[in-house]
Amino acid sequence: MKPQQRSSLTEVQVGALPLELLARLLEPERAARLEAYAEAARGLLGDRVVWNINATASGGGVAEMLLALLAYARGAGVDARWLVLNGDPDFFRTTKRLHNFLHGSLGDEGDLGEREQQHYEAVLAANLEGLTELISPGDLVLLHDPQTAGLVTGIRELGAHVVWRAHIGADMSSRVTEAGWSFLRPYVSAAEAVIFSRAEFVPRWVDPGRVVVIPPSLDPFSPKNRELGPDEVEATLRAAGIVDGDADEAHLDFARRDGSQARVRQHKGVVMGGGMAPDVRYVLQVSRWDRLKDMAGVVTGFAAALDSMPEDVHLVVAGPRPEGVSDDPEGAEVSEECLVTWLELPDRARRRIHLCNVPTDDVDENAHIVNALQRRADLVVQKSVAEGFGLTVTEPMWKARAVLASRVGGIQDQIVHGESGVLLDDPRDLAGFGRAVTTLMRDDGLRARLGAAARERVRDQYLGDRHLIQYVDLFASLLG
Ligand code: UDP
Repeated sequence: MKPQQRSSLTEVQVGALPLELLARLLEPERAARLEAYAEAARGLLGDRVVWNINATASGGGVAEMLLALLAYARGAGVDARWLVLNGDPDFFRTTKRLHNFLHGSLGDEGDLGEREQQHYEAVLAANLEGLTELISPGDLVLLHDPQTAGLVTGIRELGAHVVWRAHIGADMSSRVTEAGWSFLRPYVSAAEAVIFSRAEFVPRWVDPGRVVVIPPSLDPFSPKNRELGPDEVEATLRAAGIVDGDADEAHLDFARRDGSQARVRQHKGVVMGGGMAPDVRYVLQVSRWDRLKDMAGVVTGFAAALDSMPEDVHLVVAGPRPEGVSDDPEGAEVSEECLVTWLELPDRARRRIHLCNVPTDDVDENAHIVNALQRRADLVVQKSVAEGFGLTVTEPMWKARAVLASRVGGIQDQIVHGESGVLLDDPRDLAGFGRAVTTLMRDDGLRARLGAAARERVRDQYLGDRHLIQYVDLFASLLG
């Protein structure tokens, strides 16, 4: 297995966003604290660069967060930059296997042996060559997820401070998780600090003195989360072909992340089996096509509950066009499996279930369409069997949607059961899932109450100020 790409890493250009934007949503005391931290960061970091390295520029929660956090950091005067590493299909097959193992799942049941380790190291050694001219002694380097762990030692030898961050993990350790961690342990052990999204994810062998727990956060001003009026939502979903009818041209403009204006294009072929009538209500799951998100289980569970469901309730299951997520080799296969599940349903169920592949060639437009989908949903579900954190839960919560999600990973930190959403104890219990959807769809008042509390929960815990402040505290401890 020879690395196919030996060229340098790709730099993602990130704009700058003023912290005042974020501060507008905060109580004055909280806004002042953020400003004080920004000043401290400028003093602490001086002309050091804060590098972030991951495996994809779009698709998935890590890319989503980097775009936002780096923009605020740059707006605060910190030289934060983002590089995406290069890998070949064998490398990404191995790292997807690691991803599955760390979630406690065997994935494609392939090996994580010496052959895979050698190839993993060879690909990262090639990437390291591209980094030697970029990284200076004293810089801070944040490496994200298993794809980057093998860079730790090489970058430390360049004189930089190196932190490795795991955005994933399992609620309980098992032989499978241990096998994944034993592959990564030599690399991770060399990092000066290791960040996890929750304390339960930390493997026993990690020195507790080097662990920092930092949950993810959401950017309220990104195209994914920005406020949209009902006319914009309707026009967007019609242009995307998800809702039937002509889109009102007057409401198709949207703001890109860099502030420039764009217009939703007219799409065809986004929805299997055609769009929905404008007057239906719908339950939504948006995810990458990853088996651990169990999109096919959502389809089966919903279809089985149709008899007890109000007649105007449909299901939308939406994911990115699989070829749009470069570090996920299983996307196309999982999307296909979901399609087969749908094709095997009786006609009357298929008419009420809509599978969407949202185009990814324009990331801002993709985000805007997902925003509209989430805002128009009557209930959002996330029936993952494992989850690192689940921004697909945070996003609808911020939009004051009622959310029903599995009691796994970071989801259980976000939702207080019965207050800011509903947790499903056993994600494999399709009948229980169907019953919960039915109960929620029959009770408008309950959904409204859960949605309102959900928004406040996100304001309280999961906005960028808390996240940025935790990073500054970590940098201060590393730089002494
Ligand atoms: N997402 C998207 N387009 C899609 C499907 C998903 O932009 O078609 C986004 C979703 O809105 C969220 C991210 O991908 O911001 C998924 O992050 P999450 O933390 O839920 O899970 P991950 O994919 O990182 O496992």
